[in-house]
Amino acid sequence: MIIVMQPGAEKVQIEGVESKLGEMGFSPHRIQGVGRVVIGAVGERKVVFPTGLEVLSGVEKVVPISAPYKLVSREVKGTSSVVNVGELEIGGSQIVVMAGPCAVENEEQLLTIAHQVKAAGAQVLRGGAFKPRSSPYSFQGLELEGLKMLDRARLETGLKIVTEVLNPQECELVADYADIIQVGARNMQNFSLLREVGRTGKPVLLKRGLAATVEEWLMAAEYILAEDNFQVILCERGIRTFETSTRSTLDISAIPLAKELSHLPVIADPCHSSGTWRLAAPLSQAAVAAGADGLLIEVHHKPSEALCDGPQSLTPEKFSRLLNSVSLIAEALGRSVYIGEDLEAGGGL
Ligand code: PEP
Ligand code: MN
Repeated sequence: MIIVMQPGAEKVQIEGVESKLGEMGFSPHRIQGVGRVVIGAVGERKVVFPTGLEVLSGVEKVVPISAPYKLVSREVKGTSSVVNVGELEIGGSQIVVMAGPCAVENEEQLLTIAHQVKAAGAQVLRGGAFKPRSSPYSFQGLELEGLKMLDRARLETGLKIVTEVLNPQECELVADYADIIQVGARNMQNFSLLREVGRTGKPVLLKRGLAATVEEWLMAAEYILAEDNFQVILCERGIRTFETSTRSTLDISAIPLAKELSHLPVIADPCHSSGTWRLAAPLSQAAVAAGADGLLIEVHHKPSEALCDGPQSLTPEKFSRLLNSVSLIAEALGRSVYIGEDLEAGGGL
C-alpha cells in the first residue's frame, strides 16, 4: 500500500507514520513526489483495510497497490524516475548511450575503444570483467585486472563505467570500480545477487532474462528497490522466441510497457538481442522511437579479433553513424542524443 501524506506534511508527521508502519511489520520507503511525500509500505503481512493509518496526523489517504510489484510500480510513483550517475541523468530528455566491448580483453584494447566511443559521443563505457559464458571453455574475463583497466579508462576519458557482477560475493568489489553495476540476463532471477547489488546503493542496470515476462522482470527490480536502492535502470535485451535467424528477439513492446507499468528508466540493447551488428542501427532507432531512455551498444575496434561477441560488435565508425541516425528519431520526439565527432570513414551501415 502507499500512504499519501498531505502537501507540506511535517518531518515529525512523516516519521510518525514510518514508525507506526515499522510496528505493524512493514518496511516503509519514503518517496518524494511532486509537492508531497508518499510512503510505500511493503512487507509479508496482508494489508487489511481500513488500516488505522488514515487517522494519523499528516496523512491524506492510504491506497492499496494492485500490481504484484510495489515500489517499482507507477502506482507508487507517478513521475518517471531519473537515475543519477554523477552528473549524468538516465531517464531525462537526453538518450544516454553506453558503449564498449563485450569483454575487457587487455588495456590497449579497452583504452583504444574507450577513447573512440567517447569521441563519437558515448557517456558510459561498457565492458565485462566477469563474463557469464555459456561454455566453461570460453574466455571468462580478466576479473580484478579487468576492473582496474576500466578504472584507468574512466580516469583517461571521464566516461562512467558499467560492468557486470556474477555473484553476491563479488558485489562489493565490483561496486568499488563500477559507476553502474550490471546484472545480466542469465542472473535476472538470482535473488540473492539482486539483494546484494541493492545493498551496494550503486545504480544497477538490470537486464531482462532470456525467457522472462515483463512482470518477472519488474519483480526482479523490486528486489533491488526493496533494499532501498531506487537507482535501477531496466534493459530490454531480447527474449528467446521460435525465431532462429536472430540471436534473440528484441521485444520492442516491452519498452513502452515497462515504462507504463513502472517509473524506472528503460534502455535497449540491440546487439545481444539481434546477435549481428547489421541490425544494431535499425533496432536502436526502433527502441528510441518506442521511448527507450538509452542504448547499450557493443563496439570493438577489431570485431574479427574480439574474444567475445565480435559478430554483433560495431566498429567505432559504424557506431558513430548509428548515433547520427538515432539522433534524428530522438529529435522528432523532443529528445536528444549527444553526438561527438563524426568517426565515419565512409561506407554505409
Ligand atoms: C553483456 O551485456 O555483456 C551480456 C552478457 O548481456 P546479456 O546478459 O544480455 O546476455
Ligand atoms: Mn556481449
